Amino acid sequence: MEGFFRSNPILEAEHFSSPLISISDFKNQFKELVCEDFFPAIILSNEESNKKLEELLNCNQQTIEELEDVCSIENLKCAFEKENFDSKKVRGYEDFPDNSELQIVRLTKQLKTKFEELVYVPNFIEEDLPKEPETCEKIPNDEVLLAVSVYHSQKRKVFQEFYVLPNQKLTALRDVIVCTSDNIIYGDFSKNPDLSCAKPVKEFCQSAFFFIEKCFYNDTRNPLNRDYSKIIIEWAKDEERYTVNGLGLFTSAIMENTTFNDLKIRLGYPYLYCHQGNCEHLIVFNDMRMVSKDDPQALQSYPFKVYQAPYKRRKCSVCNIHYANWRTLNDPLAFDNPSLFCERCFKYLHYTQDGKPLCDFKAFPHVEVEY
Ligand SMILES: [Zn+2]
Ligand SMILES: [Zn+2]
Repeated sequence: MEGFFRSNPILEAEHFSSPLISISDFKNQFKELVCEDFFPAIILSNEESNKKLEELLNCNQQTIEELEDVCSIENLKCAFEKENFDSKKVRGYEDFPDNSELQIVRLTKQLKTKFEELVYVPNFIEEDLPKEPETCEKIPNDEVLLAVSVYHSQKRKVFQEFYVLPNQKLTALRDVIVCTSDNIIYGDFSKNPDLSCAKPVKEFCQSAFFFIEKCFYNDTRNPLNRDYSKIIIEWAKDEERYTVNGLGLFTSAIMENTTFNDLKIRLGYPYLYCHQGNCEHLIVFNDMRMVSKDDPQALQSYPFKVYQAPYKRRKCSVCNIHYANWRTLNDPLAFDNPSLFCERCFKYLHYTQDGKPLCDFKAFPHVEVEY
């Protein structure tokens, strides 16, 4: 079986993913599966749900409250997790005694503290996840959530994860996927380092598609966008390549006219998101489920980012303190080629006080982040 899968990755992916399903099918099947009486109890929140449960289980409010306490997910947390524990702010060595007999303990405390005061700029950056807006339109109680993972374009790892709603357009997901290749700024800026005319590529190159179940969903919101799918669809038709196992006849549709409701998908199956010509990310729909009261309730919060991989930023090769904003090429003032600089070191080293370059070199804005 394993050898068979190795020669046929499409069959392997199908084997390990769910059958084709649409959101409306799921909702209907869910209602059939969960008896009509229990359905509102699952999706209603707090008081209404408790009243319904009282009726169904034929018990009093006190028993329901007791049940809620005993089955609460809060019981799985350790004591320190319950009081808004922030792992980023924990500095264990702060509790080391000052007069320890062990030199390593004394030195760690002295050096660490000094190091953090002087140069503590973390290499890895963890973004805080969004908070819910206060005044907002609520999502319906019987709404379905779809969980989507977006993979890194080169590494086999998830770097963003979202919840989307069935009525949202595919473009809503496309707009929240953040990839470094959208933010690259092309061109040599050694003569005008104020970046007044710099534009990231996403401002003028917005073509993209999702490839889901043999259909390309192209982003055509900008009339200048290219249809990346055309050449692939024609390639598959040429010389009857579509007859090859796993290819088939491809179709195309418009991303901004398609909602997640319109899709038939396999959960766990690797689909594709492609932008900037050849920056390709696997996307996987991990889960389709009814909304619960623990999910974000505001309609505006969706697509809701549930995970963002911490990312790494490289530092300036001169001070090694601040993040690099510039990359120079053929730079007689640098040890390396290319070399990285923060804003301050770059300007002090390469320009006179009135902003004239001191030597001949090429300079590019450095926006790369590593996940
Ligand atoms: Zn990308
Ligand atoms: Zn620097």
